This record gives sequence, structure tokens and C-alpha cells, in this order.
Amino acid sequence: MAGLAAARNLADAGRTVALLEARSRVGGRIFTVRDGGEVLELGAEFIHGRPPELWSLIEEAGLETYELEGRTLQFEDGQLRATPAVANPQDESVPVLDGLESYLGPDIPFSEYLDQNHVPEELRRSAIGYVEGFNAADHRVIGVHSLGMQQTAEEEIEGDRLFRIRDGYDLLPQYLCERFLAAGGRLHMNCLLERVEWNARRVEIFASAAGQPVKLTARQAVITLPLGVLQQGSVEFVPVPAAVLESRRLRMGNARRFTMLFREKFWVTPGNGPVEDGDFSFLFSLESMPPVWWTPLPHISNTITGWIGGRRAAQLAKLTAASLGEMACDSLAGIFSVPAESIRDGLLGTYSHDWQRDGLSFGSYSYVPARALDACSKMTLPSENTLYFAGEHTDTSGHWGTVHAALRSGIRAAQQVLEG
Ligand SMILES: Cc1cc2nc3c(=O)[nH]c(=O)nc-3n(C[C@H](O)[C@H](O)[C@H](O)COP(=O)(O)OP(=O)(O)OC[C@H]3O[C@@H](n4cnc5c(N)ncnc54)[C@H](O)[C@@H]3O)c2cc1C
Repeated sequence: MAGLAAARNLADAGRTVALLEARSRVGGRIFTVRDGGEVLELGAEFIHGRPPELWSLIEEAGLETYELEGRTLQFEDGQLRATPAVANPQDESVPVLDGLESYLGPDIPFSEYLDQNHVPEELRRSAIGYVEGFNAADHRVIGVHSLGMQQTAEEEIEGDRLFRIRDGYDLLPQYLCERFLAAGGRLHMNCLLERVEWNARRVEIFASAAGQPVKLTARQAVITLPLGVLQQGSVEFVPVPAAVLESRRLRMGNARRFTMLFREKFWVTPGNGPVEDGDFSFLFSLESMPPVWWTPLPHISNTITGWIGGRRAAQLAKLTAASLGEMACDSLAGIFSVPAESIRDGLLGTYSHDWQRDGLSFGSYSYVPARALDACSKMTLPSENTLYFAGEHTDTSGHWGTVHAALRSGIRAAQQVLEG
């Protein structure tokens, strides 16, 4: 989204723009697949609140959205119970995070903050579950200043409301791409960037497509490689710009999500505990794997999605979608008191993408460790008016790890190029 937004805006402004993409599709970490009438998101799924840039693009593209609603369930001590219908049902943990908005102390890891404030064990567990799940972060690393900023940023955009694009999130990057091409932009798909040589006057891009070298020369370049790729060093920069050095202070988080498609919704079958009188939106089961589940309610669908973020996601590294589904049938059997075999019988397929092992991403999304908040803003500073960096990790407003952060950063980088 960052690259497409920057490219589209620059092409619209009359610049000659080439866009390089290593994959055979656009959208990056927005990745939608479709099966039997179901829209399955393997990357970003939710629009968090009402970020203006994202909504104006959705409206411009004429895409239909809907807001998530439905009851929230909690599975605890072997009991499944409904909790008040709120979009963020791990509400008990929020007071801990709310305190961070006005926190003026040093930027320390969240774990230290919990220790210093003697947060009781139960609250501590749910706060860690929330921070690791939502931020895909290690709570011993993520900084409290970034968490406080995130809280404030979310409130400003009604971040507790969740929306989806009914026919698939990928329609949004595809729309941006169409606008870019219509404005005269050139798109190089399946084109892997390998080296960037630059100085104060120009930039040379070395890439390869179908085994053939590709070389492009330009006055300026916007680099929207994911943080994981920048940190991996698979793209060489000569010389190494300050932004790349700063990127090493940030962290790429890890999350695993998988969507299970069923013949029918076994969880609304009469007799299945508190769900029998209807469906649910979110289900939290902190002790099991995965700890978070959701359905696309009120959209009609026979899918249920599992989510694990943070350190626990590493436990699922290397599992295929099918083995994730196998494992999850046992967890669901425990939660709904239904034999695992009958759940397996109704399972038509499990869909997942391993972002950690994806060499064009190396992780899910970024987070900011303690004392690294300035790294994001330093990454937004142009290098000699030649190189500009964008992507969700370059956000400076507390929205890291989101589609709207990526979009906003691309618009910002295009503006910087135009002013440069
Ligand atoms: C599982 C998951 C769930 C998520 N859920 C949500 C959500 O619900 N809501 C939300 O707002 N956000 C969510 N996100 C985060 C969101 O997807 C990202 O923050 C956002 O899409 C990142 O956009 P970007 O442009 O910064 O990076 P990317 O989308 O990663 O784009 C970078 C592009 O660079 C390309 N590339 C990489 N290396 C090279 C190379 N060497 N040469 C050429 N091209 C290269 C990649 O193929 C990619 O297309 C989720 C992410 C994941 C992984």
C-alpha cells in the first residue's frame, strides 16, 4: 500500500514513475484468496476505526464495507460464557494501557512497566495477551511510549470499531494500481530489487526479472521494502543510508493467522453451550492455542479465524495450513464440547500464509522497542533528496503495523519527493 500510494500520487502529479514489485500480485501484506464464494484474508483484514486517508480511498474506489458486530465469548476455567458485546473484549487489560497515555516516565519495556506498577497477576496476563496479540510483539521488548502513543492514536480514529471490505481487501491495492497505470505509471511485476546505488544526484536500481538483470536510473526513489526485508539485508544499499541504519532499531513482529472453512457452522448448532442462541464475533481463550478466534459476523460465512501474535506465534512456525487446522480442531472441541472428529468431518479447508518465512516480508508487522521511538521519525528524513523511505514501519503517529499507516506513509513520501 505504501509503494502503490506513493507511485499513484507521483504519477498523478505528472512525474515519470516506475514501480517494482517482486511478487506476481500487488498488495503485499494485503493478500486475499477466494474459494467457493468465500472471501479469505491471509494478511490484513480489518479497517481499524475511521482513518481518513483509508476511508477516502475506499469511497473513491466505491468499495462496499461492513462493520463487525456480534457477541464476544470468553473460554475460561473450562467455561464458555458470553461477555458484553464490545469490539475489544479484553477490556480488563485496557486500564493498564490507558495509564500509558499520560505516563511521563522513561521509555521502558512493557514487562518492566508491569513489574514497577505491581500489576496483579490476572490483569498482567490479560494485558500481556492483548499487547502480544495485537502488536505481534514481545512484551519484554516493546516500549511503553509507543504503546501510549498507540492508545491515543486509536482513540482519535475510533480504533475500537472494526470494518471489513466485503468483497476482499485486495480490491483496494488493485484500485490504486489501476489509477497508477491510468496516470501513465510503469509497473514491473516479478521484479526483485537487489541493489540500490545512490548519491546526491541520482539513484541506480539493480533488480532481476525471470533471471534477467534489470537496471533503472532515476533522480529519486521511494523505498517501501518491509522492515523485515530491510533488516535481513537481502537488498544492498551503496552507501548505506541513515534510514537503513535506523531501521535496525525497530522490530518486526510475528503473528500467525489461519481461517478454517466449514461445511456448516458447528458452533451455532443447538446444544453447543451459550452460543446456541446465535453466533459470535470474537472468542477469547487465553490458555489455548490459538488464544483468539473471530468470525466475519454479520457477513454470512462458514469461516472461523484463529490468531496468535507475539512470542507464542513462534511455536507454530513451520506448521502448514493443514496442520494448523488439525491442531485447531482439538482446541475448538475443548471450547465447544463437541467431539474433535465431528469438527474435522465438517472442515473443508484451512487457509494461512506464513509471513515469517516469506522472504518478501520476514514477519507480520513492525513494533517499536523501548527507546527506539525516534527511529521511525528519522526514517522519514530524505537521504540527500534522493532516497525516501515509506511503509507501515515509518509511521510516526502511533499506527504502526496497519494498512492506514502504510497508506499514509506513501502519501507522505510522495509529498516529500514533490517538494524535494
Ligand atoms: C497476518 C497479518 C494480519 C494483518 N492484519 C491487519 C489488519 O487487520 N488491519 C490492518 O490495518 N493491518 C493489518 N496487517 C498489517 C498490514 O497488512 C501492513 O501493515 C501493511 O499492509 C503493510 O504495507 P506496506 O506497504 O508497508 O508493506 P507491504 O504490504 O509488505 O509491501 C511491501 C512490498 O514490497 C515487496 N517487496 C519485498 N521485497 C522486495 C524486493 N526485494 N523487490 C521488490 N519488491 C519487494 C513485497 O512483495 C510487497 O508487495 C496485518 C498483517 C499481517 C501479516
